[in-house]
Amino acid sequence: MNTNKLKKKLDSGPVICAEGFLFEIERRGYMASGEFVPMVSLDHPEVLENLHREFQHAGSDIVEAFTYNGHREKMRVIGKEELLEPLNRSALKIAKKVALDTPKGSKPNLMAGNISNSNIWKHNDKESQKVVESMFSEMIGWAVEEGADMLIGETFYYAEEAFKALEVMKKTGLPTVLTISPMGENKMRDGKSVVDTCKELEQRGADVVGLNCFRGPATMSPFLKEIRKAVKCHVGALPIPYRTSEDYPTFFNLPDRSNCECPSPHGRTFPTALDPHFCNRYEIGQFAKDSYELGINYLGVCCGANPMLIREVAESIGLKVPASKYRENMENHFMYGKNKRIPKHMTEYGDKA
Ligand SMILES: [Zn+2]
Repeated sequence: MNTNKLKKKLDSGPVICAEGFLFEIERRGYMASGEFVPMVSLDHPEVLENLHREFQHAGSDIVEAFTYNGHREKMRVIGKEELLEPLNRSALKIAKKVALDTPKGSKPNLMAGNISNSNIWKHNDKESQKVVESMFSEMIGWAVEEGADMLIGETFYYAEEAFKALEVMKKTGLPTVLTISPMGENKMRDGKSVVDTCKELEQRGADVVGLNCFRGPATMSPFLKEIRKAVKCHVGALPIPYRTSEDYPTFFNLPDRSNCECPSPHGRTFPTALDPHFCNRYEIGQFAKDSYELGINYLGVCCGANPMLIREVAESIGLKVPASKYRENMENHFMYGKNKRIPKHMTEYGDKA
């Protein structure tokens, strides 16, 4: 019998999923910003493997294969369509390897295959929709062959595209997570409301529905409250760690925080000059704690995530993870610590430092 491992785990407590590989791999120097193609699984597999391990160390229960944007259309854009299947298989194999290699005494992680927004889906255009469906199908096929334990469809801003993704995912019989990402209009691009889209995803059989990416805690939380009330299934919450606001609900149009003359060559801070908007770890911890208290058990962070923030999510809901060994310890700080070995002339100097 096909037991739903993901649902079982969610029924008994929180499940953490680190996302945001795109931004983090770019930040580490292994991906071109803007273009955003995950060639890293072929060019530097050791870098991708290590990032998965760092997220696992920080508490991620799911190892999501980094195939975001690794679809046929994107590979056509960069003229490397022949690398599509090798790229996907390599990313999936790396994820599977890490998922099976958990610290001694702990159960294996779940390896997740991944499909996402195609960016060619067009409302009421059967032709583009057919192409997208075949892109989804081939990627899901490879994910199943490489041993995915579950499937994640994410970052959809068209409701119908999310439904199509779910339909393709459901055919495999694997557990499914479907998270959507409304743009600044605060509704799906094909007009459906965010809550209605989640309700319909539940009716169509998704195990987890919710939101990921584009929105920081401030502009994601209000929707999450409504979604939690509207559906019975598990809900997912994976914000970006940036300070979005009512005026700028997503990170796409965030102006620089201080209205400074700082260089920002694209006329916007997205995607390479968002740094001044970064949420600190306590804000992300608070978001995770509040969401968990609402009854949201599937938690994570999307673009902008790093292992430190994933540990914060885990610890804020009472979990102890391998990286907890190195959680902050201000006690021994050379100036602000309370350790009695810290000389008085240093602790007294703290507010002048
Ligand atoms: Zn993201």
